[in-house]
Amino acid sequence: MSDPRIAAECIFCKIVRGEIPAQKLYEDADVLAFPDIRPQAPVHILIIPKAHFATLYDAGAAHQAALGKMLTVAGRLAREAGAADGFRTIINNGRVGHQEVYHVHMHVLGGPEPLGPMLQRKR
Ligand code: AMP
Ligand code: ZN
Repeated sequence: MSDPRIAAECIFCKIVRGEIPAQKLYEDADVLAFPDIRPQAPVHILIIPKAHFATLYDAGAAHQAALGKMLTVAGRLAREAGAADGFRTIINNGRVGHQEVYHVHMHVLGGPEPLGPMLQRKR
């Protein structure tokens, strides 16, 4: 059975390799940004490292440049997409973080209206 945690099967690695289409909003040697396919806000962008690692548990020194760039380009991409009055970044990790795609990615979510509360927990 295919395992999406392995780079060859990983949907975001396939986007990096051009095997699955995505609208490239930003690209450099380390990171790639594209719109989320199921947007949860008027602005919903994903920024990913090009190199595969599953979660921030797996992050190491080799990933520092990409992780730094993900934060560095977020504001510019949010503003360019129309979120000029604030935005939120989210990195979900593992089961408790409700991570669906096991290739580290940062969500960039924005308005124009204020987003909902940061966390919603069912009672
Ligand atoms: P997460 O729960 O943090 O793992 O979120 C994974 C995100 O990836 C979800 O918001 C999905 O809508 C998004 N996603 C899955 N497949 C694609 C794709 N092919 N292109 C763009 N976004 C995707
Ligand atoms: Zn991957």
